[in-house]
Amino acid sequence: MPALNGRKQIVILGGGCGGVVAATNLGRKLGADHDVILVDRRPDHLFMPAFLFIMLGERQPQDISRSLSHLQKRNVRVVQSEILGIDPTRQEVALAKEKINYDYLIVSLGLQTRPDLVPGFAEASLHPWEMESAVRLRDALSAFRGGRIVVGVPLGTYRCPPAPYETQWMLDNYFRQRGIRDRVEIEYFTREPEPTGELHDPVVWLDAESKRRNIKQNYEFVVRSIDPENKLVQGLYNYKINYDLLVMVPPHRPAQVLLDSGLADTETGIRVDYDTLETKWDNVYAIGDCADMPASKAGGVAHQEADVLAHNLAVEITGKGKPVDLWLHTI
Ligand SMILES: Cc1cc2nc3c(=O)[nH]c(=O)nc-3n(C[C@H](O)[C@H](O)[C@H](O)COP(=O)(O)OP(=O)(O)OC[C@H]3O[C@@H](n4cnc5c(N)ncnc54)[C@H](O)[C@@H]3O)c2cc1C
Repeated sequence: MPALNGRKQIVILGGGCGGVVAATNLGRKLGADHDVILVDRRPDHLFMPAFLFIMLGERQPQDISRSLSHLQKRNVRVVQSEILGIDPTRQEVALAKEKINYDYLIVSLGLQTRPDLVPGFAEASLHPWEMESAVRLRDALSAFRGGRIVVGVPLGTYRCPPAPYETQWMLDNYFRQRGIRDRVEIEYFTREPEPTGELHDPVVWLDAESKRRNIKQNYEFVVRSIDPENKLVQGLYNYKINYDLLVMVPPHRPAQVLLDSGLADTETGIRVDYDTLETKWDNVYAIGDCADMPASKAGGVAHQEADVLAHNLAVEITGKGKPVDLWLHTI
């Protein structure tokens, strides 16, 4: 139902980093005077940075999951549903069993992983970019007795650009602790050129740190396909890398519902005003990985954006307080 008697209905799409922070803040600030609704297909919030610890067996899935229903204590109604459509002209979101209207819409649907975009990927790569794959990678690592592990990244954007480096280094430590590092080769590939310059430049330092750990770095390697039978990553110009265990980051794209509804472009996500996070549609805002901001695809960025947007919307809705500027602290 649309808002009645001055009540506003704020709908938040996505219960990841950005959505949970926005919902918590708005629920606290608006109390019972307005309606805050959060929608996610999952019952739980997953803390994705900890997928790396799942990979090593240092955390269990339940350690890094929290039921979104806890938000109800903060005056947030949680709806578990697939989001099927967004109609910004009617101010309406289509869910599996109902349609909900909004006065304000915050879109925080992240990025979705798209293994289908690289032939052979789904059969070949185990990676910590999704919970289920991180669990399978943990089991493969614990059974690994020696050979070549190849970590790599796809073309385009993906969640947390530094995480592939953390992955290499955590694998290095893991095999040292098991006392078999000398039997494990670790390699990395990226389409980026080899960095040059001073060590205080982060990309130069990342390269140096990997090499210090005896991890071979393959630069300007663009994946074309993977041959799981022959355990071969096939690159452009007939470059090839053999592996025994492949830990490649899947390609990422905006959520399909954002593409289908015309809110997002395939490569860049949702265009937003860099200061206000407004989209071109009235009262529709985007934050986090799905927003086209000059910032990393990082939970820290989503959190800061959610804090500022929730504050500014609460000021607009209640007429109390002053808006604040978005001042992102990120690389
Ligand atoms: C291995 C790894 C390590 C990382 N390390 C760090 C780190 O150290 N620091 C850091 O800041 N960030 C890190 N990140 C990145 C961080 O997790 C993301 O940037 C962050 O989660 C983005 O938040 P978000 O709210 O934009 O999207 P997400 O957290 O991805 O949330 C999106 C939500 O939308 C839901 N959703 C999507 N489509 C639909 C639909 N159609 N219907 C219903 N629900 C839908 C999803 O279920 C999901 O819950 C890491 C990520 C990974 C994978």
